[in-house]
Amino acid sequence: MKDLLTVAKSRHLLTSKQISALELTKEILRCIHATEDEVASYVTITEELALQQADQADKCIQKGQMHSLTGIPMQIKDNLSTANVLTTCSSNMLRNYIPPFNATVVEKLRKEKTVLLGKGNMDEFAMGSSTENSAIKRTYNPWDLTKVPGGSSGGPAASVACQQALFSLGSDTGGSIRQPAAFCGIVGLKPTYGLVSRYGLVAFASSLDQVGPMTRTVEDSAIVLRAIAGRDRADATCLTRTVPDYEKSLDKGVKGLRIGIPTEYFDPEIDETAKQSVIDAAQVLKENGATIDWDISLPSTKYALAVYYIIAPSEASANLSRYDGVKFGHASSGDNIWDVIEKTRQEGFGPEVKRRIMLGTHVLSSGYYDAYYLRASKVRTIITQEFKNIFKKVDVLLGPTTPTTAFGVGEKMADPVAMYKSDILTVPANIAGIPAISIPGGFSNNLPLGIQFMAPHLGEEILFRVGHSYQQSTSWHLMHPPVFKAN
Ligand code: GLN
Repeated sequence: MKDLLTVAKSRHLLTSKQISALELTKEILRCIHATEDEVASYVTITEELALQQADQADKCIQKGQMHSLTGIPMQIKDNLSTANVLTTCSSNMLRNYIPPFNATVVEKLRKEKTVLLGKGNMDEFAMGSSTENSAIKRTYNPWDLTKVPGGSSGGPAASVACQQALFSLGSDTGGSIRQPAAFCGIVGLKPTYGLVSRYGLVAFASSLDQVGPMTRTVEDSAIVLRAIAGRDRADATCLTRTVPDYEKSLDKGVKGLRIGIPTEYFDPEIDETAKQSVIDAAQVLKENGATIDWDISLPSTKYALAVYYIIAPSEASANLSRYDGVKFGHASSGDNIWDVIEKTRQEGFGPEVKRRIMLGTHVLSSGYYDAYYLRASKVRTIITQEFKNIFKKVDVLLGPTTPTTAFGVGEKMADPVAMYKSDILTVPANIAGIPAISIPGGFSNNLPLGIQFMAPHLGEEILFRVGHSYQQSTSWHLMHPPVFKAN
């Protein structure tokens, strides 16, 4: 069986001139054409642009002007602005929106001379856990086409899983990088809040949103993060610290590292197979030299989902008020301005987005603000403090990424709360602003399982070390989904 390509391996093939960027791009485009009918993970495929950019990359390589991602074909989630390329956010509101500018992360990748293959499908405005809320199309899980790919970055996760892109960028507000990564058997990193610029990311909940890499390996995640992270004058919440060379510390191993497994991540609602993958991972890391602490607790974890579903919709209701038919996107006609706004939103937003806006405006309204929003903000501080305290005892936390493997298409659409519950293990990291990574950790009934590591603020280096050590000792990340067709 032919191995799936990685960013690191492709970079080696490019620098050693065993392959050109154009040949590499054509191979990935071949994979897209071979699987897209079944997987449907792209909103837009920019084939012509990709071939042009690959050609430019080849010219740079010939001149010896190579950055770490030059010539690497990649995809971008459809809520990141791409100049002159449709950016729909998988919403009817932005169905025809072509931004005049690049998001900072996209600009950074452009400067590295990466190759843009197109835009990844997602839940509308990144609200959802299955990509079924997309107004454009449904995406299917490459491991089993009757299952969802997770969400909201379901398109990116499915694409990377079957080599329709060597990496993709997703966004994670409550789990949207990690949960689909777990469902599709790839690596997904949500960086520390503020490490990566949000300029040009269509805002969902600004105090929680982060952009991050979706890759096949931890090594690739380290390479991509370095390229996209760092100070940005256009985003005042972006940290000014210099970005370390994460790749350099990958091989440091885990000897002496303390890994904690919080009891709350072994709740009865979590599948036995998910728990078992964590127990097995702990064993692997112990053999590699880490110490495992089973006796720690994050008691406020049980409030995290409730806090998230107050704070995220509140911020969303404010952020989405800009879609009024005047400034951006879809515009309806009517007798007066109120009519226009009402009709524009009625037609432009799907049911889940409307639900979040209503929830958000309700909890922010006078009389409810103190009872819901203010209280949720206080609990948010407690959750953050609990993480701070626990990181005095351990270096990294380990647990499952999701309570179950990928669920069936349509299975949770009628029950929003059941859908929300798939984020129960991922939202705490967003609430506290800490980095977290999901890594393939096994299979159950032929569907991938993800394990999640969390670290203190700016602890990405440790996450990569632990994750890389784990991947050196396991082979889950090398498996192919059945839909992948090698040349
Ligand atoms: N599934 C969660 C939600 O619907 C998380 C989404 C996200 O991280 N963008 O809010």
